[in-house]
This record gives sequence, C-alpha cells and structure tokens, in this order.
Amino acid sequence: MAIERTFSMIKPDATKRNLTGAITKVFEDNGLRVVASKRVWMSKREAEGFYAVHKERPFFGELVEGMTSGPTVVQVLEGENAILKNREIMGATNPADAAEGTIRKTYALSIGENSVHGSDAPETAAQEISYWFSGTEIVG
Ligand code: ADP
Ligand code: MG
Repeated sequence: MAIERTFSMIKPDATKRNLTGAITKVFEDNGLRVVASKRVWMSKREAEGFYAVHKERPFFGELVEGMTSGPTVVQVLEGENAILKNREIMGATNPADAAEGTIRKTYALSIGENSVHGSDAPETAAQEISYWFSGTEIVG
C-alpha cells in the first residue's frame, strides 16, 4: 500500500462546536498525519467552486450556505492508503447510516451538517488539495 495524501475539511458545524482538536485527534489516532492545516472562512464563490460537481443537486444552496456560515479547517492528511482510510474514519454521508466510532456517527448533526469532508479518489484529492494549498504550505 502506498503513502497517499488526501484533502480534509472540518466543516463549520464542527468548528462552531469547538471540535477541531477532537476531530484532528481521530485522524492522528488512526495513523493519518496532518501535513497542512489552515482555518478559512469560505466566501460564497469559494464554496460554489469547491462543490461545483454538486451544483445541479437540490441541496446545493443549503450546502453553500452551511459552508459559508462559519470557519472551516482545511487540511491535507498523509498516510498509508489515506484516501480510503479517511473515508472509513469519517463514516457515511448521513450520520444515521454511519458506523459506530466514525466521526460522523459521533459528531455529525444531520446529512447536511455532517462535520467533515474527505476526498473520494486520487484525482479529486489532488484537485481539492491544489484548490486550497500551494506546494510550500504542505510540509510532510
Ligand atoms: P460526502 O461528503 O460523503 O462525499 P457527497 O459528496 O454526496 O457526500 O455530498 C457533499 C456534501 O453535501 C455532504 O457531505 C453533505 O454536507 C451535503 N449533502 C449531501 N447530500 C445531502 C442531502 N440529501 N441533503 C443535504 N445536504 C446533503
Ligand atoms: Mg463527496
């Protein structure tokens, strides 16, 4: 298995509840290393651009509203099989379907306010990392 990098966000519903440290600890306890991290307050334009793949979905307006409602912690996580591993640690999109012990089962409020984002494939990981970080901001 290869060392990979994935893109992660601790979403506003979680930062508002002061869960940045608690969620980051779950990544670290599962062998993922935070190699870049910053706190941003997304503009509407940034949120729409990041989630452009979902722009025709009925929840797009709600999603952009949530992501611009407070600070987000954007991070790059590195480790063995990081992309899939992070998706497992996060749990299902809807916390009602998420497995016991996952971040979304523990912390998410609803399918919309589900506390974390994680890239779903190598191509999206590379694209999402470069959307938020320049090469010099990533220190492995
Ligand atoms: P994931 O974040 O698990 O990759 P998706 O890519 O399908 O999930 O959706 C992106 C985000 O859009 C979700 O994390 C969630 O915040 C929001 N979302 C998805 N489906 C819904 C829905 N049915 N209602 C409200 N918000 C949703
Ligand atoms: Mg997704």
